[in-house]
Amino acid sequence: MTLPVIVVHGGAGSWKDEKIPMGIEFVKKAAIAGFEVLERGGSALDAAEVCTAFMESCGKLNAGVGAARNSDGIRELDAMIVDGSTLDFGSVAAVVGVHNPISLARYIMEKTKHKFFAGTNALRVYAQMLSEEYRTEKAPGILNVNVENIAPETADTVGCVVVDSQGRIAATSSTGGVRNKMPGRVGDSPVMGAGAYANDVCGVAATGYGEHIMRVLLSRMVSLYVEQGTDVLDASKRGIQLLVEKTGSEAGVVAADVHANIGAATNAKAMPTAVIRGSVENISVMALKEDIETHFEQNL
Ligand code: ASP
Repeated sequence: MTLPVIVVHGGAGSWKDEKIPMGIEFVKKAAIAGFEVLERGGSALDAAEVCTAFMESCGKLNAGVGAARNSDGIRELDAMIVDGSTLDFGSVAAVVGVHNPISLARYIMEKTKHKFFAGTNALRVYAQMLSEEYRTEKAPGILNVNVENIAPETADTVGCVVVDSQGRIAATSSTGGVRNKMPGRVGDSPVMGAGAYANDVCGVAATGYGEHIMRVLLSRMVSLYVEQGTDVLDASKRGIQLLVEKTGSEAGVVAADVHANIGAATNAKAMPTAVIRGSVENISVMALKEDIETHFEQNL
């Protein structure tokens, strides 16, 4: 039996001080929503989907209904779910009008012979998913969030890594991408090995400028370091160091290995992060870079 764990992030970046409590509140709620799925006997994949769908539906983070808009004022959404136990994934890019792109990504992984759909034709798959009642959309109403009141400038990309009691690992990412992006632009979030990665050893979710993260395949690299014997925390730090060396950019990662060791690292000002180990009572939340460093050093 493995200790079940979940680590959730709400995006790395230059968070305004007054927004940080909101970021922490929603990653905390998302972590609890995901962990409760594990407690009810759900798999890492189930928990990762529910956790991410929560953040997409909350309207307060840069994913799903709260996502950042492109320069045409449209929300074009990217998402990916990775099942480390089968080394399988599903991705969507630049989809419009989908509440929970993470569920569409899972549908693609489980119900189609393909892995990655983009743009208008992905919506045909979405229509198929709804007509088969694979999932219903988790409308913001059920979370008591008034979409009308959502600030146009919301927060950041979301993602999580989950390890269940059978040692299965799942990872996700979901985003509206960088603010004011050119229409059609796709970042790292739906790209396997860049925005997230998981196998039977380690799972990773990344956040930051997709243009830079894709160039170093950040999530795959962190996982590879763990496979080569580096502990999860050091591997997370090495990943950020690699990104800085190669691109000079800013990013964050959260990671967990098959033994439920957890790591996180960022060189951005903040990355709202929630961690649950073993039971919901054992939850930790933090956001500032220094607080993340301290927390993970103390909890190796
Ligand atoms: N990685 C996302 C993207 O480039 C943005 C973010 O993480 O904030 O689309």
